[in-house]
Amino acid sequence: MYDRARPFAARVRWAKKETRDTSTFALWIEDEAIRRQYTFSPGQFNMLSVPGIGEAAISISSGPEDGPLLHTIRVAGNVTSAISGICASNIVGMRGPFGNGWPMQEVEGKRLIVIAGGLGMAPLRPVVRHLIKSGMGHGTDERPVLIYGARSPRDILFRHEFQSFGRLFDVHITVDKADPHEHWKGRTGLIPPILEEIPLHGPGTIAFLCGPEVMMKCLINEFMLRGMPAEQIFLSLERNMNCAMGTCGHCMFGPKFVCKDGPVFRYSEVRQFMAVQEI
Ligand SMILES: Cc1cc2nc3c(=O)[nH]c(=O)nc-3n(C[C@H](O)[C@H](O)[C@H](O)COP(=O)(O)OP(=O)(O)OC[C@H]3O[C@@H](n4cnc5c(N)ncnc54)[C@H](O)[C@@H]3O)c2cc1C
Repeated sequence: MYDRARPFAARVRWAKKETRDTSTFALWIEDEAIRRQYTFSPGQFNMLSVPGIGEAAISISSGPEDGPLLHTIRVAGNVTSAISGICASNIVGMRGPFGNGWPMQEVEGKRLIVIAGGLGMAPLRPVVRHLIKSGMGHGTDERPVLIYGARSPRDILFRHEFQSFGRLFDVHITVDKADPHEHWKGRTGLIPPILEEIPLHGPGTIAFLCGPEVMMKCLINEFMLRGMPAEQIFLSLERNMNCAMGTCGHCMFGPKFVCKDGPVFRYSEVRQFMAVQEI
């Protein structure tokens, strides 16, 4: 097994602008031996680096059955700006994959509700693609649900894919607000009112959430009020990361390492820490 503490070279095969501040990069692992060994599951992330600038945790936004290894990056600071300036055929550093990923084994026989806010769609896109490709999620009486919220119509990620996601999922898209010149004919408003309209059946339902923490807390309240067990709610958390291997302690969340024990947690595991401000 290759050493996940050491960056290896990944070549940018192509880059695609998704929105004004977010682009998707297809990366190709240069070393053949590493490329053969490299596998990942939905919800895992890589540490991407630019020499002399630094390293950032970036979720894998492609499905495990997809060809290219995709990363969808929003410009936030030094590393993400540097990567965004990299053109096709140039090299970035990569370490990974890290993290536990979404518990796909828990989905079998249950009705899945996937809820993403903003860039939270990046680590959830592999779940959706994996379910569609593997045939999982087809076995329940009710269709799985995908709810996605973006700031505005022009901030919608993977815009042209939602129609194909609709083959398996009941898809609901909303935007916080839309300017009249954007000719948005879809829904406007926050995500929680959409969830209120969806019937829930307690233990037969499982939820995967990723987005701003304030959004996830609000959705968790709604799930809990309607009797959904805390064990059936999973959320992906984001904290500043350094080693990504559970040694440096940068990403500690209470006693948990977000990099190693997460980033996906069962709500029942972390609810006591989520109630504490600034943890
Ligand atoms: C598990 C996990 C998965 C992730 N997945 C993704 C993903 O798929 N895509 C993605 O884009 N991000 C993802 N992130 C977030 C990403 O790792 C962070 O945003 C990371 O800090 C970016 O590194 P950076 O060097 O570009 O930004 P940093 O320099 O670390 O900046 C981070 C923060 O500081 C602020 N900041 C930076 N410079 C300035 C400045 N000059 N003035 C004011 N504020 C400033 C930024 O707004 C930002 O909020 C993920 C994080 C985790 C933990």
